[in-house]
Amino acid sequence: MKKNQRLIAEIKKERTLVLIKPDGVERGLIGEIISRFERAGLRIVGLGIVKPNKNLIDKHYPKTKEWIENLGNNLLKTAEELKLKVDLKKDYGVSNVYELGLKIREWLINFMCSGAVVKIALEGPHAISVVRKLVGKTIPYLAEPGTIRGDYSIDSPLLANLENRPIKNLIHASGNKEEADYELKLWFKKDELID
Ligand code: ATP
Ligand code: MG
Repeated sequence: MKKNQRLIAEIKKERTLVLIKPDGVERGLIGEIISRFERAGLRIVGLGIVKPNKNLIDKHYPKTKEWIENLGNNLLKTAEELKLKVDLKKDYGVSNVYELGLKIREWLINFMCSGAVVKIALEGPHAISVVRKLVGKTIPYLAEPGTIRGDYSIDSPLLANLENRPIKNLIHASGNKEEADYELKLWFKKDELID
């Protein structure tokens, strides 16, 4: 019985971090985005608006080779789907996907520091995956209608990278439990979260 209750509490209290990025704030979508999460039944346990500095954002985004290469690979996949030929050297001035990923990471850091960001801590059963589902795919033109990115954004990595900027997809959401624990600690002090 006791064990049961411990598990129930653990499931109900799964937490995740959402950031409304500067494009979402600028477009006046704060209320709309928050209401989507509330409507789904997630509880807001932390909320704030901040102007992040580079140090915070540098800590926020991973530095692993895998994560950085994934940023670059997003572009290559889109090019393949659209049957467009990409020459990394000629078009982007880099020699491999890792170097492209590093460049994109820099753009992301600068972009995230360019305006206000809303930080939201959400709680509920399977909060991490429920939030990812409501947010939709990373690449906006592939995000399904009904998701936040699908309904309110239209960008592609090909276009973004040619314009020397990150994809504008309105939201960041923790990708898994490990990311969620790390990011919640990074963005919120313990006493800023409601128990
Ligand atoms: P987030 O972590 O922001 O919730 P995600 O987990 O869906 O998004 P990641 O792979 O973690 O996507 O990428 C982090 C962010 O980097 C994306 O949200 C997007 O803004 C940006 N990004 C990803 N790939 C590219 C790319 N090829 N070009 C430009 N920006 C990119
Ligand atoms: Mg991510």
